[in-house]
Amino acid sequence: MQAANSRKSNDFIGKEARYGARNYQPVHVVVDHAKDCLVWDVEGREYVDMMGAYSAVSHGHLHPRIVAAAEKQLGRVAVTSRAYYGTTLGPFLEKLCQLTGFARALPMNTGAEAVETAIKCARRWGHRTKGIADGQQEILVARGNFHGRTSTIVSFSSEESYRSGFGPLSGGFRHFDFGDMDSVRAAAGPNTCAVLVETIQGEAGVVLPPEGFFAELRKWCTANDVMLILDEVQAGLGRTGCWFAFEHEGIRPDAMILGKALGGGLLPVSAFLAREDIMQVFEPNSHGSTFGGNALAAAVGLEALLVLEEEGLVTRSAAMGDYLIARLREVQAEAHPLIRDVRGRGLWVGVDIDPAHATARELVEGLAEGGVLSKETHDTVIRFAPPLTITAELIDRVVAVFRQVALARLDASKPAAVPAQSLAAATA
Ligand SMILES: *Cc1c(COP(=O)(O)O)cnc(C)c1O
Repeated sequence: MQAANSRKSNDFIGKEARYGARNYQPVHVVVDHAKDCLVWDVEGREYVDMMGAYSAVSHGHLHPRIVAAAEKQLGRVAVTSRAYYGTTLGPFLEKLCQLTGFARALPMNTGAEAVETAIKCARRWGHRTKGIADGQQEILVARGNFHGRTSTIVSFSSEESYRSGFGPLSGGFRHFDFGDMDSVRAAAGPNTCAVLVETIQGEAGVVLPPEGFFAELRKWCTANDVMLILDEVQAGLGRTGCWFAFEHEGIRPDAMILGKALGGGLLPVSAFLAREDIMQVFEPNSHGSTFGGNALAAAVGLEALLVLEEEGLVTRSAAMGDYLIARLREVQAEAHPLIRDVRGRGLWVGVDIDPAHATARELVEGLAEGGVLSKETHDTVIRFAPPLTITAELIDRVVAVFRQVALARLDASKPAAVPAQSLAAATA
């Protein structure tokens, strides 16, 4: 991989490595510019973006309508703080509530901030409406969760590297096994105010819920007067072929967290959405954010929603996702047993790699060399989450590269006898 880099790339990589905190380990591609589903590096090499910035670029890079909306707003006003009203926040919130079916929305910036908002809301709601003593509220969370990186959120991560050395950790969280209702019941107690869960576990490796789990969870939450909060920061806004992943489960949550694609690929825009009675726990001075819901972010967020709707990107995600998964399964059959599983919903796909043959990272690097951007999660899963604007032609191009990389890797990982045979075949 490194060998393919020329000096220009290495200069940029060197500066980030030298002056940046070392909290990331990027793939060695230095992105210079991008358009829709394509990205070019500083050497002029072209890549298909199958990562989509973890769903933040669901509209494709620099979508012309969203850029135009941003430019228009940049000619007017960008940031005023919430000390005043503006002309873009109201229309943005109105559209957001209409699309999601929630009564009210609280705008923030990053996904983690919207999750924090949800946690504060759930605790206050538990205290005020359920009479749980303040400080005793408990929120049930899934093992293998990912909800962001603040100190409170990592307190309930089951990932050791996210938590270790960052104590004292926040209490008030209890774990259940994703997809297991018995484990939910076992974790619950009289102080349980909410269940906070991803509809599909992304970071854990695009883990789909077992059939019927969410329907049961919904029933249980209602019966026990527990708030069901779904984190759809990555799964929401068309990623899974529905507007929201909970639609696949035939349920509605009491509250929801959105982020990533809500910023149209331009800005951090997130929101916490809830039923009327739940959102009432926030009164003036109880919560806020200087940048949350700023005029520029609201203009961009509104246009991001309109583009998804008017360009039919949600149904497109369903169709292209089916196609991507089907094509990847062809490669799976051919590259047996390197690929253990191809799973996903809509344009959100996890390819599970058998560690006996390769790490996911090795394949991700091979894909990058072949002009395809992806990212591993843990050691064994390659995650694909391209812009929802991806075409069948680009998917074919990606699958051809993936097939080549997978077969080469499989060959290289086979015991010595196999290369000898292929050598004989090659010379025959
Ligand atoms: C990315 C993500 C977050 C955190 O969002 P940030 O914008 O990185 O803070 C929270 N929840 C889920 C499910 C995510 O995928």
